[in-house]
Amino acid sequence: MRLSRYFLPVLKETPSEATIASHRLMLRAGMIKQASAGIYSWLPLGYRVLRNIEQIVHEEQQRVGHIPMLMPTLQSADLWRESGRYDDYGQEMLRISDRHGRDMLYGPTNEELITDIFRSHVGSYKDLPLTLYHIQWKFRDEIRPRFGVMRGREFLMKDGYNFDLTREDALHAYNRHLVSYLRSYERMGLQAIPMRADGGPIGGDYTHEFLVLADTGESEVFYDSEITDLTFGDRDVDFDSVTACQAVLEEFTSRYARTDETHDPDLFAKIPQERQRAARGIEVGQIFYFGTKYSEALGASVSDSQGNKVPVHMGSHGIGVSRLLGAIIEASHDDKGIIWPEGVTPFACGIVNLKQGDDAADTACQSLYDSLAALGLEALYDDRKERAGAKFATMDLIGLPWRITVGPRGLKNGVVELTSRRTGESEELPPEAAVARIAQIYGKAS
Ligand code: ATP
Ligand code: MG
Repeated sequence: MRLSRYFLPVLKETPSEATIASHRLMLRAGMIKQASAGIYSWLPLGYRVLRNIEQIVHEEQQRVGHIPMLMPTLQSADLWRESGRYDDYGQEMLRISDRHGRDMLYGPTNEELITDIFRSHVGSYKDLPLTLYHIQWKFRDEIRPRFGVMRGREFLMKDGYNFDLTREDALHAYNRHLVSYLRSYERMGLQAIPMRADGGPIGGDYTHEFLVLADTGESEVFYDSEITDLTFGDRDVDFDSVTACQAVLEEFTSRYARTDETHDPDLFAKIPQERQRAARGIEVGQIFYFGTKYSEALGASVSDSQGNKVPVHMGSHGIGVSRLLGAIIEASHDDKGIIWPEGVTPFACGIVNLKQGDDAADTACQSLYDSLAALGLEALYDDRKERAGAKFATMDLIGLPWRITVGPRGLKNGVVELTSRRTGESEELPPEAAVARIAQIYGKAS
């Protein structure tokens, strides 16, 4: 993408309504614009990152065998009356009536709808196990929407639902979700720690939240510092293996890590004092096993191998897709701007032309751009007639992890400059070598 043709409305001033770094930076980098309280338009740069996060979620869900689908945002109140949650959900639910006076709502979550689909089409244990998921906008009329996309009213969530014959099978689905979540967050450049949590309105007492440690997080958390040494990495876990998934769950949840709702000061005190941590975190996902709560209320049952009708065991599993942008920025920025992890960056690298209009510089930039494109890597080429300082400031603000700087002086010596946004370190090298380096970083063959 050429910056001269892109839509990147960066702001020079710090918007006064934004109190935390991620919100400030998303507004300044022209990623989002508030449409009304807690509701945002996703401008092109923000939309690219949102799509990248979605893509990782899709890939990791499908890697473990979960099946994508799409349910609507607007739901009929009838199903929620059946489950008993229409009244329970309270004022967070946006209630709407259509022209016929029928009660509708903008879905805050989808347990009812998915259970209705299940009961209409699945009748036998032979169709199990089954895990369906979608990535869809939710609406919760939060009392205090704030921090930009972190606590929006309209937000994008991946929510998945498992249907299993037995409690054991459903717990395997739970563990499998935990494993796939660990991998998903790491691909986004995040450490998200599974912590024992509270069921809330979804219900159930078997639940973990995934938290990204950050001072601006809204959750209070307590943990054993050893847990931050764990990484999932590029393990090849057999997702169908009950013991393999159970082992990962045990590894990642055996140390003390809890949110304030489940915090147990006596247990916490047993951790060696130097490892006790009280901190704040951002909840970026949650997994639940809730047994037969919804399947009983909504009559979702299957016949087992003896021909008896039994309610299915279910769980639901959410990832806060849009909140993740804020969480990633909270975890990865400096005073100049955002620092995107390679896994989610909107563009693979930036190309800064120091002398637009100079033949050699223009040609070299275009050639770098084309070579990267041929490898499937899209660069953002700053081809504007602007001062170098202004170009660097924009690149630093929007946070592309790599920048190639091209100027007539370097080209005379056959080199361009490759700069890491994270370390600020620069290196001079021939253009082809810069392309090869970027290709290597993104795992593309050059
Ligand atoms: P919270 O405690 O932050 O209100 P929750 O526990 O009610 O969240 P879940 O029902 O577990 O939310 O939803 C799954 C995920 O969706 C959460 O882990 C979070 O990342 C995201 N999410 C929930 N509410 C919001 C919101 N208002 N804005 C953005 N993302 C949200
Ligand atoms: Mg939650």
